[in-house]
Amino acid sequence: MARYTDSVCRHCRRENMKLYLKGDRCYSDKCAFDRRSYPPGEHGERRGRKISDYGIQLREKQKVKRMYGLSEKQFRLFFERADRQKGITGTNLLVLLERRLDNVVYRLGFVNSRAQGRQFVRHNHFRVNGKKVNIPSYLVNIGDTVEVCEKSRKIPDIADSMEAVVRRGIPQWLDMQKENHKGSVKGFPVREDLTMPMQEQLIVELYSK
Ligand code: SF4
Repeated sequence: MARYTDSVCRHCRRENMKLYLKGDRCYSDKCAFDRRSYPPGEHGERRGRKISDYGIQLREKQKVKRMYGLSEKQFRLFFERADRQKGITGTNLLVLLERRLDNVVYRLGFVNSRAQGRQFVRHNHFRVNGKKVNIPSYLVNIGDTVEVCEKSRKIPDIADSMEAVVRRGIPQWLDMQKENHKGSVKGFPVREDLTMPMQEQLIVELYSK
C-alpha cells in the first residue's frame, strides 16, 4: 500500500477544517490550519472556485477517510460492510469507523491521535477482554474492555495522553476507569455522539454512482 509521507496538516488545509491528526499540536498555536487556513499548493490562496456536486461528494469522502487515517481500499471495504447492514448506510459507516480499536484507544485517551493509536496497537500495548490484540481495524463490541498492558502504563506518551484527554472529553458510549488504565464499551455510538461535521450521505451518494 502506498504510504502518505507528506505533512498530514495539508489534509486539514485541503478539507478546510481541523481534522485533529497531530495530537497536542492541534490545540497549540503551531497548528498549520490556524496559521494558513487555505488549501495547500501553488494556487491554494485563490478563492471562489466553483466546485461540482461530484467534487463536493469527493471532498466529504476524503475528509472522513483522512480523519480516520484509512487508505481508499480500507475505506471502501468499510463502506461495503456498512451497506450490507440494516439501517442507514452512512450512519452504519460512521459507527463501524468508531468501533475500530485504533479509534477506541484514541477516544479513551490512551493515545493522542488515531495514527498513534494505530502504531501503539500494532506494538501490542493494549488488551481487549484480557487478550493482546494488535490489529488496528479490530472492531470492539458492546461490553468489551480495552486496557493498557501493565508494562506499557509508564510509557510517557500514554501517561501524557491520559492527562490531556480532559481537553476533548471521553464520549458517553465509552466508560473509563483511569486508575486501572481500562475502558469499556457501554454501547455503540449513535449519530448524535459524533460531533465532528460530517455529511455521510454525500459519501453514500458518491459510492452509489
Ligand atoms: Fe490539522 Fe492538527 Fe495539523 Fe492543525 S496541527 S493542521 S488540526 S493536523
